[in-house]
Amino acid sequence: MKSSSRPYCSPRSPEPPAQVIGDRAAARGGRAGVGLVDAHVHVFPAEMIAHRESYLERDARFCALYRSPKAATVTADDLVESMDEHGVDACVMVGFPFADQGLCRLVNDHLLEAVGKFPGRVAGLACVAPGAPGARAELERSLDAGLSGCGELAPEWDGAGAGRRGSDQGLPAVAECLRERGLPLLVHASEPLGHEYPGKGRFTPEACYALARAHPGLTIVFGHMGGGLFLYEAMPEVRSTLVDVFYDTAAVPYLYGPEIYEACVTTAGPEKLIFGSDYPLLTPGRYAEGLARLDPATRAAVEGGNARRVFRL
Ligand SMILES: [Zn+2]
Repeated sequence: MKSSSRPYCSPRSPEPPAQVIGDRAAARGGRAGVGLVDAHVHVFPAEMIAHRESYLERDARFCALYRSPKAATVTADDLVESMDEHGVDACVMVGFPFADQGLCRLVNDHLLEAVGKFPGRVAGLACVAPGAPGARAELERSLDAGLSGCGELAPEWDGAGAGRRGSDQGLPAVAECLRERGLPLLVHASEPLGHEYPGKGRFTPEACYALARAHPGLTIVFGHMGGGLFLYEAMPEVRSTLVDVFYDTAAVPYLYGPEIYEACVTTAGPEKLIFGSDYPLLTPGRYAEGLARLDPATRAAVEGGNARRVFRL
């Protein structure tokens, strides 16, 4: 799958990295001043990748998603190496919402190291286990040290990590911390209909809406098109409740036809959709066909401008 995908943009000739993201885009003759931002990529520490088997036993959701040897994993260094190949100027990295706070911390430290090592190219979101003790402290520590928000959380798996449905135990404290700091929360959302797959959960539009409603003023990015939540922004009262909500495109090629992007920007607005590839699950090139259907200004917003604003890149 990975080898058959084409790069998002034409491969660039080697060049010294520019300090300013806009300069990078201009340097390659692309969308000057915009630059592709991939706002949903997963990375793991090298140690966790090397000993994946032992971590499978320690977390039910991690096991569900990563027990297949085909499930690709990369470190932050691997990610940065791949970015030029895929024409990506900046990434927002996420780890994995382990139910164990200590495992979250391991991944957060990996993200923090990368943020320090590759300034301007990567930002990172902290993962915490909201239902376990110390969630807020770990979040505060990670944000103070340089991460840019929290996610990708999967609230339905919160705490026990055993697939409890609809729990938001501990989430209010996390949400409050983020709201106070004006930083975003990225949440794994799922569609209520359609085919099953590992990682398809039950945090569907109703749960997403309830979360947004419970935390006015909190910026929330719902992954995977919010499971279709954007459609309800056509209802005026829902739209006003979702004023601080955004949607990312992660895994769209596995879920929807390429018309979904137009449907979202038409209903929710061009400022609401954020490109994220779910790399290494999918490469950015897999999204190009659908995104090319957007008008240039909307495409520039979706492919970079919106993410820069929301994640303060
Ligand atoms: Zn997700």
